Amino acid sequence: VAKEYGANNYQVFHEGMMELSVDRIKLENDLRKAIENEELTVHFQPKYHAMSNKVIGAEALARWKHPLHGYVPPIDFIALAEETNLIVSLERLMIKKTLSYINDWKKKKLEVPRTSINISIVHFYQEDLVPFIEENLRKNNLIGDEIEIEITESIIAKGELHINEKLQKLRKLGIEISVDDFGTGYSSLSYLVNFSIDRLKIDKSFVQNFDNNKEVIAAIIAMSKNLNIKTIAEGVETKEQLESLIALDCLEVQGYIYSRPLEIQTYEEFLLKNNELTVY
Ligand code: C2E
Ligand code: MG
Ligand code: MG
Ligand code: MG
Repeated sequence: VAKEYGANNYQVFHEGMMELSVDRIKLENDLRKAIENEELTVHFQPKYHAMSNKVIGAEALARWKHPLHGYVPPIDFIALAEETNLIVSLERLMIKKTLSYINDWKKKKLEVPRTSINISIVHFYQEDLVPFIEENLRKNNLIGDEIEIEITESIIAKGELHINEKLQKLRKLGIEISVDDFGTGYSSLSYLVNFSIDRLKIDKSFVQNFDNNKEVIAAIIAMSKNLNIKTIAEGVETKEQLESLIALDCLEVQGYIYSRPLEIQTYEEFLLKNNELTVY
C-alpha cells in the first residue's frame, strides 16, 4: 500500500515534537482548504460474492493528495479530521461526490452496484444527517436502495434509542447499514439484536490472522445468521482466507484478492467491463 501513497508521505508525521505540532496545524489548515476546494477524491473498492465472483457492491474511500507531501494515508487524515471536527464536512463532500458519480454513470447506462459510504460517529450524531442524504439522493435522481452506510461499532455501543431511530429512518429510505471493522470495538452483542442494521463487516485483522481467530469468526457468522444479519469479510488477500470464509458460509468479501480500491477512471472502466461480462 505504501507504494500507492508515494515516497515522501510519511516524513511530515515523523519529525520532532515541536515541528510535529506546527506541522499538524499546517496540515489541519491544508486539509480544511482541500475540503473547501473539494480537492479530496474518491476511490471505489468493489465487493464480491465469493462463489459466483459477481460484484455485489463497492465502497467509497476518501483520498487526499497533499500538494507537497503527496497522498496522505487515509488513517492519518481521517484521524486528523475526527480530532478537528473537519470530519463532517469531509464526509459530506464524500456523499456529494459519490452520489454525483453514481448519477453520471447511470446516465452513461452503466449498471452501478450498491455503494457504501463511511460515516463517523460525530457525523452520525448531526441533527441533519438524514435530510442531507435525502437531499443529495434527490438531486442525483437516486433512491436509498442504491447506497449503504458503514458505521463503526462505537455508534451502537451505547445502545442509545435516538441512534436506533436514525438507523431506522435510513433503512426506511432503503439504505443498508453495515457495522464496519466488526469485532475490534466493544459493542454489546445485545445491541445487535435490538438495533436496526443489515450487515456486519468482519474486520480485516481477524481475516488476515484467520487461524488464530477461526472460532471468533465462526461465532460472528453463526450469530449473525440467527439474527438475520448479513456478514461480509474485509481485507481478504489470499486464496486460503477466501476458502476458509467460504467454508464458514461467509460469501460476501472485499479485499485485494479481488480488487484494490480503484481511482475514478479505472473504476468507470471496470463498471463498463463488468457490465459487458454480466448478463442481468
Ligand atoms: P475501512 O472503512 O475499514 O476501509 C477498508 C480499508 O482497508 C481501506 O483502507 C482499504 O483500502 C483497505 N483494504 C481493502 N482491502 C484490503 C486488503 O485486502 N488488504 C489490506 N491490507 N487492506 C485492504 P484505506 O482506503 O486506507 O482507508 C482506511 C480507513 O480510512 C477506512 O477503513 C476508513 O475507516 C477510513 N476512511 C476512508 N474514507 C473515509 C471516509 O470518508 N469517512 C470515514 N469516517 N472514514 C474513512
Ligand atoms: Mg469502511
Ligand atoms: Mg472496514
Ligand atoms: Mg477496517
